[in-house]
Amino acid sequence: MTGKITTIHIETHEVVRVRFDGALLRSWCAQCQDFTGLLRVEDAVVVGVSREAIHSTPHLHLLERANGAVFMCLNSLLK
Ligand SMILES: [Zn+2]
Repeated sequence: MTGKITTIHIETHEVVRVRFDGALLRSWCAQCQDFTGLLRVEDAVVVGVSREAIHSTPHLHLLERANGAVFMCLNSLLK
């Protein structure tokens, strides 16, 4: 295996582990005023995180792209 693996932990009332085999998307987060890694909301939903939990977490920064894809700012996940 030659790809880079990034492990991200998302904590709500439980811990969910998401593993990626590939490059992490990075972008500017206007709320952090910094570059950050992005996790697609759809990828978190696939592993069992509810959309309601994502959208009701007050400190979580959500970024919507022009194509409608919604991403979570990893900086805000780690706070
Ligand atoms: Zn952010």
